[in-house]
Amino acid sequence: MKFHAFLIKYAEIGIKGKNRYLFEDALMKQIRRALRRIEGSFKVCKEDGRIYVMAEDEDFDEQDVYDALQHVFGIQGICPMLQVEDEGWEKLCETVVNYMKEAYCEEEAYSFKVQARRARKNYPYNSNEICRNMGEVILDQISGVHVDVHNPDVMLHIEIRQKINIYSRTVKGPGGMPVGTNGKAMLLLSGGIDSPVAGYMIAKRGVVLDAVYFHAPPYTSDRAKQKVIDLAREVAAYAGPVNLHIVNFTDIQLAIYEKCPHDELTIIMRRYMMKIAQDLAGQTGCLALVTGESIGQVASQTMQSMAVTNEVCTMPVYRPLVGFDKQDIVEISQQIGTFETSILPYEDCCTIFVAKHPVTKPNLKIIKRSESNLEGVIESLYETAMNTVETVWCESER
Ligand code: ATP
Ligand code: MG
Repeated sequence: MKFHAFLIKYAEIGIKGKNRYLFEDALMKQIRRALRRIEGSFKVCKEDGRIYVMAEDEDFDEQDVYDALQHVFGIQGICPMLQVEDEGWEKLCETVVNYMKEAYCEEEAYSFKVQARRARKNYPYNSNEICRNMGEVILDQISGVHVDVHNPDVMLHIEIRQKINIYSRTVKGPGGMPVGTNGKAMLLLSGGIDSPVAGYMIAKRGVVLDAVYFHAPPYTSDRAKQKVIDLAREVAAYAGPVNLHIVNFTDIQLAIYEKCPHDELTIIMRRYMMKIAQDLAGQTGCLALVTGESIGQVASQTMQSMAVTNEVCTMPVYRPLVGFDKQDIVEISQQIGTFETSILPYEDCCTIFVAKHPVTKPNLKIIKRSESNLEGVIESLYETAMNTVETVWCESER
């Protein structure tokens, strides 16, 4: 049984009132974007406060529709449905029985409940009557079924609107809020496992992403850079197109290496990363930074290290993975499809100049004193880094 119409369910909590249309319009825009990437021609429309996707011809694969829509934040569920004209009660009964027989042809015995909604008040039966009468028709015409009003295997929805909607299945959506409803943030995207997941989680709250990658050629290769572009594209499958800003960080790293104690390298380097990311964020209209940090994961992510790193930021820094175990992060990365790319073994600029025994409890005063060694050199290096940023537009290839 191939469906041509899909009802889009979205969470309504918190979006009642004046902002509701903004949410719905953003959702429809993201749905259209996702559907453009698959074969077929679709209409996305809003009627009576519901969003529908309608296939306009036969040239599509139903599974592709689910796959595409499962990348659209804001969707709680996708219900494949029959939408039919009102041609009288008898005809409706026939359609519903055929639907049940076909949709559940493999089930021998199951329980069901009819849930009716009469949005068009001139329909001859009210909701209770539709439930009761249709329930009887189904019991009568399909063998092996019984009614269970509390915990049915099949919840059959019949909605009487201008047309009539019949549906009973829900394919789970990703949840969250439509991208574009919550401003823009700058993701610090490395080639690791964590930062793509962090980006995914913030985009899931409706936030558009820009990203920044600190590249250190020749210590980090073109392949490492390509890996980050690929990751940005994979995140873009959910977040929409991502502008990836690639910063040449080599000279700043070398200066730090030359002038600062080696056990403080990572912390000082991370402070410069945050500063540059914040400047880029300001230039591109971002309201916050996003990182993949998680408390205690490595030396630079102890509470003390993060406090010292954070000290350079005036913008909010969101760390959605802060309380996650690595295994939980790995699971999400597998689910969203970034894991395979993340584990490709290319060098990372953080690991190149890393000290054998980095400080785990840095002291801000001491770090600042070490940083003062950079005065006179760092300013022009910083400026050059800002002036030579390469920006790559990363769109999903799915
Ligand atoms: P990830 O798996 O995201 O690389 P990680 O466990 O390797 O994280 P770190 O290397 O300490 O941890 O990096 C912490 C965070 O800093 C990353 O999640 C990312 O947001 C940011 N970051 C690290 N290196 C870079 C880089 N080269 N370019 C951009 N951001 C980076
Ligand atoms: Mg890393």
